[in-house]
Amino acid sequence: MADSQKYVYSFGGGKADGKADMKTLLGGKGANLAEMSVIGIPVPPGFTITTEVCAQYYENGKKLPDAVKPQVQEAIAKVEAMVGSKLGDPSDPLLVSVRSGAALSMPGMMNTILNLGLSDVAVEGLAKKTGNPRFAYDGYRRLIDMFGSVVMGVDHEHFEHELDSLKKQRNVALDTDLSGDDLKILVEKYKAVYKKYTSTDFPQDPIEQLWAAIMAVFNSWEGKKAVEYRRIERITGLKGTAVNVQAMVFGNMGGDSGTGVAFTRDPNTGENVFYGDYLINAQGEDVVAGIRTPEPISRLNDEMPKVYEQLLKIRENLENHYKEMQDIEFTVQEGKLYMLQTRTGKRTGTAAVRIAVEMVGEKLIDEDTAIKRVSPDSLNHLLLPQLDPKSKLKAVAQGIAASPGAATGKVVLSAEAAVQFAVDHPNEPILLVRKETSPEDVAGMNLAKGILTATGGKASHAAVVARGWGKPCVVGCGALHIDEKAGTVTVAGQVVKAGDFITINGTNGDVMIGQAATVDPEVSGDFATLMAWADKKRKLKVRTNADTPKDAKKARDFGAEGIGLCRTEHMFFEGQRIVDMRKMILADDEAGRKSALAALEPYQREDFIGLFEAMAGLPVTIRLLDPPLHEFLPHDEAGQAEVAKQLNVPIEKVRRRVEQLHESNPMLGLRGCRLAILYPEIGDMQVRAIIEAAIAVKKKGIDVLPEIMIPLVGTIEELAFLKKRAVAIATEIIAVENVKVDYLIGTMIEVPRAALTADQIAEEAEFFSFGTNDLTQMTFGFSRDDITSFVPTYIDQKILKVDPFQSLDTVGVGQLVIMGVDKGRATRKAKGEHLKVGICGEHGGDPDSVAFCHKVGLDYVSCSPFRVPIARLAAAQASLADGEAISRDR
Ligand code: PEP
Ligand code: MG
Repeated sequence: MADSQKYVYSFGGGKADGKADMKTLLGGKGANLAEMSVIGIPVPPGFTITTEVCAQYYENGKKLPDAVKPQVQEAIAKVEAMVGSKLGDPSDPLLVSVRSGAALSMPGMMNTILNLGLSDVAVEGLAKKTGNPRFAYDGYRRLIDMFGSVVMGVDHEHFEHELDSLKKQRNVALDTDLSGDDLKILVEKYKAVYKKYTSTDFPQDPIEQLWAAIMAVFNSWEGKKAVEYRRIERITGLKGTAVNVQAMVFGNMGGDSGTGVAFTRDPNTGENVFYGDYLINAQGEDVVAGIRTPEPISRLNDEMPKVYEQLLKIRENLENHYKEMQDIEFTVQEGKLYMLQTRTGKRTGTAAVRIAVEMVGEKLIDEDTAIKRVSPDSLNHLLLPQLDPKSKLKAVAQGIAASPGAATGKVVLSAEAAVQFAVDHPNEPILLVRKETSPEDVAGMNLAKGILTATGGKASHAAVVARGWGKPCVVGCGALHIDEKAGTVTVAGQVVKAGDFITINGTNGDVMIGQAATVDPEVSGDFATLMAWADKKRKLKVRTNADTPKDAKKARDFGAEGIGLCRTEHMFFEGQRIVDMRKMILADDEAGRKSALAALEPYQREDFIGLFEAMAGLPVTIRLLDPPLHEFLPHDEAGQAEVAKQLNVPIEKVRRRVEQLHESNPMLGLRGCRLAILYPEIGDMQVRAIIEAAIAVKKKGIDVLPEIMIPLVGTIEELAFLKKRAVAIATEIIAVENVKVDYLIGTMIEVPRAALTADQIAEEAEFFSFGTNDLTQMTFGFSRDDITSFVPTYIDQKILKVDPFQSLDTVGVGQLVIMGVDKGRATRKAKGEHLKVGICGEHGGDPDSVAFCHKVGLDYVSCSPFRVPIARLAAAQASLADGEAISRDR
């Protein structure tokens, strides 16, 4: 790289080298500091070292490009000139902060160091200059702590221990109650801790401090916490982090100083109110770390009315400028307000929808922007269970409602315990209860259904992370007394042990002991408005995978436009049905099978009538029996004995049949269409039940559009064989009943050979539905039931970017989809027809996969009922993203 490359961008004093749209290069924080400087918002001067430097640092084996140092020196000189003091000046030292900032915000993930530039000499100078030794020594001890822990890896607890023991000695509760002399003593203790754990003295040269801090930020990019966060959030493709070096302003200079974080709207509900917290006489991280419970921002109006008024103006300016809800950090130094950061505020799905819809009403943005603003996955939040209003559980305490939805789970008291609990009890819900959370806890937090903390405000780590992930969260519940060692939480005089149930309501902050019922949400209000806007834009239809009228109705309420997959096997497991099913499997001959199937037929007919009625007038795709028959028989001795008794046959017969049905690889054995070819009477019964149900519903005056789907087809001959039988049966019933039913017969494309020969298969198939679960399984050769043994490692090792069963592998499996669509459509087009093509694998509800389905011209996606709104929004976004992209034949 040429040495003339610009690696360092200055800002401050109403000017900046960068601007807001340079996030990739300057990181979000750096780009916005530059932008704020330019639009006249008071920002302390500083500079940003680009993400490109981070990328080159790692590319060159952890070596910085040569031109960085001189450019940093030049930028320091500019800051010194603007502030009017110099780094290391013994009488008037310039102090700076060093912060990370990638293009996407990663809360708490990267390290921050404040008060850089203090030393034994400089601290004296600062004390004299400010006339405030308490302030100077407080800053110094904080620097030694942060520098020690962040740069040198000393456990923060060792410093904290010294602070606590001094507070005990002085018999005071708060840090702010310690005097200047106390803090001077503390500095010496901290230096001793530093020396003990690093075997070096705390560095006295500010330039040495600065470079060590800058390198620590770059190194933290590949640190465990940051890597873990990126993995969970599926963040890939970033260059690295930028480093922001900025002149310090101080919120801890006394009662007329303070620091706070705020959102321009409520990030929890989306309400258009100023929302946040502040602490008087505190520095930077105190508010976010949740160490002291801060004051709500509205109270600042009483304590510092001028500052509050100024903040309200800035709030308005920022929203008008960015046309987006902002998350801001500010510091008040002796009555003067400075903005330290602004960025797009993280919000719950509920808030995202409300803010987007209201901003359209306020004419800040248009409908298309509103649609693009809401991440489809964040809608999960609106689809989260809410506390059942009929629940009898009484709240025993209240905290701050930090992230909505109700969560009920078994109490665990640490993130490590959560990880262990999930291994020991994989299916049990976890509720993480902590005093506060920190970035180390993210893995455990991710496993929890909900998070409850004793301290911290709306912007605490727990609140921000939970909100980002759409997990219910209650913070700042001071009534909790947590004893991690004893494994108990005491609240309102009651003791809850680890493993007992607690319920939280993140919508109103209630904490309840015990397990509460939850209810499903509905699409209404702003949510319905946004969905209606999305529906106007999308080209893909959205169907649902449903096997019961209840699920079908729920999906319709969520906007489903038909059923894309009814897995009929789910209809054979209950009550008398499983008995008849087993009779059929154990029958000695065709006659025996037919008689068992005759008993099953009325059930099937009723099931289909229910589905057709629920979906009145919308297409319903019913798949003929797919799984191997052994799945309907028990594999254990006791279960087999019970079946033998129930069916009045010898147990040996049951055992023998199970042995006969055993396959080494049942996923590739006798299942799907193969089963229907070997035992045609099964498919015949199902086709009869479908057509008879359709006629019965039509007779009631309800329109029906049945689509009979044949699974696991790999050759045209398989499909032709089964289609011929189905058509014969349907034609006969329709003729006898004399009721016209428009039905289609199509196939799933889930065997690679079907995609490769889709032109032939479309000669018979009247529609295709990509079964991308099996198609992924067979294309990768990954057993879908056994991937947990290696796919997580593959993702860690970057062999796979994501689990291909969650998000469609567009590069590989996607090629088969494209080939299937193109070849199939060409065949039908030659007949002057359009081949309807959909997808019914799990990918149908994954936003990235939905975007792919749109791009390759599918007609619809089908997903589980709760993902229907997500797919509708994802489809609209894909459509809006089309732009100049070549649109395919649809
Ligand atoms: C598929 O394979 O994608 C599919 C939808 O079928 P199933 O998951 O039932 O095998
Ligand atoms: Mg399948």
